[in-house]
Amino acid sequence: MLATVMYGPGDVRFENVDDPEIVEPTDAIIKLSATCICGSDLWPYRGLQPSQGPAHMGHEYCGVVVEVGRDVRTVRPGQFVVGSFCVSDNTCPHCKFGFQSSCVQREFMTGAQAPYARVPLADGTLVATAEMPPSDLIPHLLATSDVLGTGWYGADVANVRAGSTVVVVGDGAVGLMGVLAAKEMGADRIIAMSRHRARQELAKAFGATDIVAERGDTGIDRVNELTRGIGVDSVLECVGTQEAMTQAINCARPGGSIGYVGVPHGVTLDGQAIFFAQRRMMGGPAPVRRFLPDLMNRVLDGRLKPGRVFDLTLPLADVAEGYRAMDQRRSIKALLTV
Ligand SMILES: [Zn+2]
Repeated sequence: MLATVMYGPGDVRFENVDDPEIVEPTDAIIKLSATCICGSDLWPYRGLQPSQGPAHMGHEYCGVVVEVGRDVRTVRPGQFVVGSFCVSDNTCPHCKFGFQSSCVQREFMTGAQAPYARVPLADGTLVATAEMPPSDLIPHLLATSDVLGTGWYGADVANVRAGSTVVVVGDGAVGLMGVLAAKEMGADRIIAMSRHRARQELAKAFGATDIVAERGDTGIDRVNELTRGIGVDSVLECVGTQEAMTQAINCARPGGSIGYVGVPHGVTLDGQAIFFAQRRMMGGPAPVRRFLPDLMNRVLDGRLKPGRVFDLTLPLADVAEGYRAMDQRRSIKALLTV
């Protein structure tokens, strides 16, 4: 089949690779209904994360099961499924504690920017729908696989609840999903920190009540003005840079919570500053599998439309253009049709 391979920074090719096969008896092979490019795919694309040779890209996926290994019990060929970007057994102590992204058998999904993909630990990883969903729901279901699940986790660990005041740092796709999640969880006030017009509009459409375009100290001052010097209950840090993390910590009120879901690159924290700041911090790769059944139901009910975050749709064969568009910020997130 033809699939997406990244050879190095800026070098994404759509080329012939071996068809995926059942390797372990717990594997499934799915035919992708659609796939997409993640903001985290841009780290190696921009050379900001070391990569070792050609990599089969893609970890956000939904599709139809075409084959299962002999030990797979809970999904069968013909079913429509969504899975997390972290594969997990869903039975180990960490999974049972709700942290499937730290599963003792954890693997990170790869190879999903392709027509077919192998999903390890299929029983634990995949969630099937009762029926084949209509095609107009595919982008929204695809979004639950990572980007919505990650924004949701950010809001969850930032302790967002009914009536909360919230700041979302970062207007990438995850930040925008964080706004949507905070709104859905009942937040009263959602301040989106965004400098880009189109993203500000989308943030408002997802439920942002205020926009702060300033960054750094000026951005913190602006949030302080908006909250009468108190700070907010919950902050979602959806970038992963030092500036974003500093902004996140300083926008929270004492006793407030920071959910950080941007993969930190070069972020350091001062122990004593954290001690006196009195903020809760929780982050990491989102245990999307915990939220997946609920998020899929909210999409199937028509209650959530996270797929609005895709502002560019391309055929899979044009995946390299999708990377370019996202790298150059011409696109928030690119959907690839298979
Ligand atoms: Zn596990």
